[in-house]
Amino acid sequence: MSKEPGFDTLAIHAGAQPDPATGARVTPIYQTASFVFDDVEHAASLFGLQAFGNIYTRITNPTTAVLEERVAALEGGTAAVAVASGHAAQLIVMHTLLQPGDEFVSSRKLYGGSINQFSQSFKSFNWNVAWADGLEAADFEAKITDKTKAIFIESLANPGGVVMDIRAIADVAARHHIPLIVDNTMATPYLCRPIEHGADIVVESLTKFLGGHGNSMGGIIVDGGTFDWTKDDRFPVLTQPRAEYGDMILAETFGNFAFAIACRVLGLRDLGPAISPFNAFQILTGIETLGLRMGRHCENALKVAKFLDGHDKVDWVSYAGLEADPNHEKQKRYMPKGGGAVFTFGVKGGYQAGVDLVSSVEIFSHLANIGDTRSLIIHPASTTHRQLDEGAQEAAGAGPDVVRISVGLESVDDLIGDLGQALDGLGS
Ligand SMILES: *Cc1c(COP(=O)(O)O)cnc(C)c1O
Repeated sequence: MSKEPGFDTLAIHAGAQPDPATGARVTPIYQTASFVFDDVEHAASLFGLQAFGNIYTRITNPTTAVLEERVAALEGGTAAVAVASGHAAQLIVMHTLLQPGDEFVSSRKLYGGSINQFSQSFKSFNWNVAWADGLEAADFEAKITDKTKAIFIESLANPGGVVMDIRAIADVAARHHIPLIVDNTMATPYLCRPIEHGADIVVESLTKFLGGHGNSMGGIIVDGGTFDWTKDDRFPVLTQPRAEYGDMILAETFGNFAFAIACRVLGLRDLGPAISPFNAFQILTGIETLGLRMGRHCENALKVAKFLDGHDKVDWVSYAGLEADPNHEKQKRYMPKGGGAVFTFGVKGGYQAGVDLVSSVEIFSHLANIGDTRSLIIHPASTTHRQLDEGAQEAAGAGPDVVRISVGLESVDDLIGDLGQALDGLGS
């Protein structure tokens, strides 16, 4: 092709070709744990990283490889590694970057599960999170020490619908020579490509909009290929000789996709959270319609947000797509095609009203997920964020009156009608 293919072309074709063995047009599910070697030399070269090829599905699989190449193309990265879940992606990224005793600086505006993972389980690896006090680049810079090895943000933050100033935070990361990791789950590459704004590593939960149908768990790590690991000795996984690979130095051998290789040949190899080929297949099918779906998700979400904004039982609506929203300017800059489909609003009547609302909707499903074709609703203070104390709930945008919705692809009049009947019934 003479010119760079468009987003929807990549979403359907990137990484795939008719199956060389059978001609199957759709990427088959290679449901196998392992792969036969041509001969002993071939086996030795695969194990020594001298040749690329399949050994065992914990590390690579042909169905998963198509998914990886496709998401790398959509995000504009050099390579990607698909894993079992979004949380597994975060675990492997940090395992590759951090040594025991190291730190990373994170935004507090995160998916509740990420707050738990960072502040609780990562502690047992002696990886320490320093929470930025605000959302500005200076708030992140203030927390950087000699031990800081990364900055972590969400492009469009869950659940508050906050758009982060990726470029300004990337500049801080670059100045301190640490990589910026961006969780792009809520925006997806259709709305925002963080690598173009200075991110070095993108992680995503494929469980959400990429798969898009609420049927398969998955996660992915995209290597932006932008970070120079060899500048100093702060990332030993990439710059120290690896005895098990003939003293190979990953950053030297693999250049601008060395981070992805390290995540695969050390992280997946030793920590083990591989995605199943079946899930990779389901998510690939979902990605084919990502552009179509995200367009409609955003259109429906804006209509629902406007309806809620005008409802007398609703105190406030936090949706970056609304013109009066404090995030609207940044949304236009970083995600001009729309404000996404997940946002929060505050119900009059606080905690009880939130609980009552999620109990009385009929089309919306009350559950802990986002990014499904179906519309979803949750009251974070009684569910996803209930482990946090009230101060931490407020800081994460999950106070007692907050309700989060993920607007699906149903007929929007039905969605508005459903929320309307549930709101009208409150306090009566
Ligand atoms: C769901 C989610 C995750 C975690 O992904 P899983 O696939 O559930 O492990 C991480 N970040 C964000 C923004 C999410 O919405």
